[in-house]
Amino acid sequence: MPGRSELDKARAGDPRALARLLSLVEDESPQVRTVINELLPETGRARIVGLTGAPGVGKSTVTSALVGAFRAFGGRVAVLAVDPTSPFTGGALLGDRIRMQDHAVDDGVFIRSMASRGHLGGLAASTPQAIRVLDAAGFGLIIIETVGVGQAEVAIASLADSVVVLLAPGMGDAIQAAKAGILEVADLFVVNKADKPDAQQVVRDLRNMLALASRTEEDWKPPIVSTVAVRNEGIQELVSRLNQHWSWLNDTGELKNRRLARAREELAALAFAALRGRLAASRLDELAARVAEGALDPFQAAEELLSQ
Ligand code: GDP
Repeated sequence: MPGRSELDKARAGDPRALARLLSLVEDESPQVRTVINELLPETGRARIVGLTGAPGVGKSTVTSALVGAFRAFGGRVAVLAVDPTSPFTGGALLGDRIRMQDHAVDDGVFIRSMASRGHLGGLAASTPQAIRVLDAAGFGLIIIETVGVGQAEVAIASLADSVVVLLAPGMGDAIQAAKAGILEVADLFVVNKADKPDAQQVVRDLRNMLALASRTEEDWKPPIVSTVAVRNEGIQELVSRLNQHWSWLNDTGELKNRRLARAREELAALAFAALRGRLAASRLDELAARVAEGALDPFQAAEELLSQ
């Protein structure tokens, strides 16, 4: 267990202490539980923005520009770059880090990459803990950047209060995003690389798709923002749309609902994982063998397993 002074240092935003705590989280260390318990009273304040999109759409560039824009208001910003697709190489993340060097000398900015240790479940479970650590350390804004390529990333994106889905012409088009179920979780769309000729087509496709979605009067209608992140264009509009969404979340009580739903998901996932572990340690194999042989029906086997 990291000592109190270590936690205090992290809480004060000491980047090295923070990095060490986040390594514990990433390694799924048993100490994480104590750390989270200790930090819990100081969590719940940060605003969490998720940013997802296919590789190459411009996530790092947009994130970097967003960090700059939010820093102009003075708050501290943390970026958690989560890559579920590259367990060990971390190639893309290294690139992210290099590009984020714009903010390397700013001590109000903390940037950290997290890669999965070979299984996505681990990442889904550890990302909320990483968010808690950064939240307790007093970062007013936490941006979670994930490579969005499928369903699993949707789960990580949904950890955020506001989810931004990035698209770009020629790269993971709107139809693909729709297939991956990513359109439903988006609060805001960014069509980046608006300097490219076919960007307008992406905006049109997106608009058509959104028009088909059934929404009530009170529902938030996800805006579409066009950006040229490399030239910092459209970033102010993105910030103001994000701020509108944040106000809407607070004014409608939706923020509370979302955080409650998130806690429910997290709790259920932890309980299921624990249960799974216990089942595996009990008579699972023996009962499974009997089910496979046709000697026992699966309903009865399940009951026997749970009754232990
Ligand atoms: P990520 O993989 O989604 O994080 O994408 P990156 O931010 O690494 O960007 C991928 C490539 O697209 C890089 O070469 C960027 O310089 C480039 N890029 C980012 N934004 C824009 C843009 O608005 N217009 C153009 N033309 N290129 C961009």
